[in-house]
Amino acid sequence: MKAAGKYNVAHSLNHAAAHIWPASRRSLTWAVAPGTRKDAIDPLAKQSIEPWSVASGRNFTFKCNSEKNYNIYNASDIKISSRTKATDPALDGKGNVIAYGTPPTEGIMVLDGDETWAPGPLAGATDIGSVGLHEMGNILALEHSSDEKTVMFPSIGLGVRKGLGESDIAAPKNLYGF
Ligand SMILES: [Zn+2]
Repeated sequence: MKAAGKYNVAHSLNHAAAHIWPASRRSLTWAVAPGTRKDAIDPLAKQSIEPWSVASGRNFTFKCNSEKNYNIYNASDIKISSRTKATDPALDGKGNVIAYGTPPTEGIMVLDGDETWAPGPLAGATDIGSVGLHEMGNILALEHSSDEKTVMFPSIGLGVRKGLGESDIAAPKNLYGF
């Protein structure tokens, strides 16, 4: 996902649903990397992850693992971390690329540590919960939307909070046949 004003939907359609989570993997565990800022966990749980369980009619369920232990983190289905361009070539410093989520069944979400993040819609900062909601969509194999109002639109402005819209809610049902 990119910062507002710099995006190209066609170019961003790189999460094509070649793979979906298999029927045997619908109860997924998630964890944040040890050392991730503590105030990210609650918005990730409530704003980014839980809404997709609801949208799936509870066919997907998500359980949070302890963030204290790298063994548990690495064994989790969904692994959320903050990195910077120094250690992750997919990142580019402040602005432009702000986060990414990998398609099934890799389950990796990375937030760019060079952005100004907030655990809510604060002026001048990027809302962790809203960006996580989009990246979770990509992790679940959902494609990007060209409708700016949807969560699956591939960019977001500062201070903006988004929740799942009609097309976002329909997407997992259509893709997985729930
Ligand atoms: Zn995306």
